[in-house]
Amino acid sequence: MKSLWEDGTELPRFGRLEGDLSPDVLVIGGGMAGLLTAYELTRRGADVAVIEAGRVCGGVTRGTTAKITSQHGLIYSRLEEQSGTDAARLYYEANEEALARYRSLAHGADCGFEERDAYVYSLMRRGELEREAETVRRIGGEAEVTDGGELPFPTAGAVRFPHQAQFHPLRFLRTLLPELRIYEDTEAVGISGGAVLTPRGRIRAGGTVIATHFPFPRLRGGYFLKLCQKRSYVSAFEGAPAVRGMYVSAEEGGISLRSAGNLLLVGGGSSRPGKADGGESALPAEFAARYFPSAREVYRWAAQDCMSLDGVPYIGRFSARTPDIFVATGFNKWGMTGSMAAALLLSDLVQGRPNRYEKLFSPSRTVLRPQLVANSVEAAADILTPAVPRCPHLGCALRLNAAERSWDCPCHGSRFGLDGSLLEGPATHGLKSVPTPPVT
Ligand SMILES: Cc1cc2nc3c(=O)[nH]c(=O)nc-3n(C[C@H](O)[C@H](O)[C@H](O)COP(=O)(O)OP(=O)(O)OC[C@H]3O[C@@H](n4cnc5c(N)ncnc54)[C@H](O)[C@@H]3O)c2cc1C
Repeated sequence: MKSLWEDGTELPRFGRLEGDLSPDVLVIGGGMAGLLTAYELTRRGADVAVIEAGRVCGGVTRGTTAKITSQHGLIYSRLEEQSGTDAARLYYEANEEALARYRSLAHGADCGFEERDAYVYSLMRRGELEREAETVRRIGGEAEVTDGGELPFPTAGAVRFPHQAQFHPLRFLRTLLPELRIYEDTEAVGISGGAVLTPRGRIRAGGTVIATHFPFPRLRGGYFLKLCQKRSYVSAFEGAPAVRGMYVSAEEGGISLRSAGNLLLVGGGSSRPGKADGGESALPAEFAARYFPSAREVYRWAAQDCMSLDGVPYIGRFSARTPDIFVATGFNKWGMTGSMAAALLLSDLVQGRPNRYEKLFSPSRTVLRPQLVANSVEAAADILTPAVPRCPHLGCALRLNAAERSWDCPCHGSRFGLDGSLLEGPATHGLKSVPTPPVT
């Protein structure tokens, strides 16, 4: 299940940490969020170390579809209704600034950066599209409702954001790596007495940024209640018509499209691991078979991202009691601009500078409370369900995903192979024993 981005993109290897360290800033996690944050802080003169449990870019970032856009579904009308016009405006501006920063960093870099229009289409809900475009214009953005344009199926229309972008995420990150001090195969296993513990050394830093996708501390900060994961499936086809725009569906789990060179990337599905049977994995191939019967599937992969309770990422102080620990997570499948927004915001916070987006993204924002109660009840039910095997993260009952041949955790999205090996966190190790694999 190599993604298009991994195939043919050689990344340098970095040695593991042997001994203690005391950098100005420690960044934990070498994905898009961690590497961008480390890069911004390094450019500002900080002495930064990055530790990565495996290899850089080996997490969700390898499975993205890499659309760089401030259009995140129909978020602006929802955000305005939920938190007011100023919150919607700030969210838009933070993401447009992130897009602008990509534009300047990608300039001259060999990373396939191309300006494209972004579209969110709906099969039935034209009114919601109109409302979104109006909200975006009201907060100072550019948006219009068009027809479905290049899409091969009928729609009620699409909201277009001009001047957005797409790129090759791994080639882009590769251009930043020479400036960074990175230790691979170096997992953070705990935080104690003001130091981050790794298997072969302690790191005492002035500031620590947790960019491990799902935050690695199991209970602190309550992220196990504030996050869930959603999984989607992507295939790349040759012999399918190219699209100029980048398309996502307003309806959850609908088809997304973008071109990458001579390939068409088709994404689809959006379900919580452990709550579905993996049947959505065939969606991109079924779509292509129906609309582009002569297309040939050349890559197929799946990935899952952390979803926040209110659709806004958690970027800021990890918890009220840890003023020198910061976090970037909950990107809701919009972690390209989200990671860049995190890098810019966290660089300010770590260096003690004010930043106008601090409150909007604060992981301790109060809007989260009612949903937290609902999540606690659901997690408790999953923990109490009598079943084997159980997830080593927090003990939830795992469920079999027949289509992907894995054991999936319905609470926090960890996944394990049928042999018990760890496929995806937040669990940090595999299962000691697993039931006999079912015969299919
Ligand atoms: C199918 C799909 C399509 C997407 N498409 C888009 C898109 O078009 N546009 C967009 O904006 N976003 C998109 N996203 C979202 C985006 O890809 C993610 O939000 C983003 O890549 C997350 O980056 P990250 O750095 O937070 O996580 P990761 O890339 O997972 O990086 C986290 C790193 O931390 C490491 N780590 C974990 N625990 C530890 C530890 N204890 N110690 C040390 N290291 C640790 C991991 O090994 C990993 O390398 C998509 C997501 C999915 C699932």
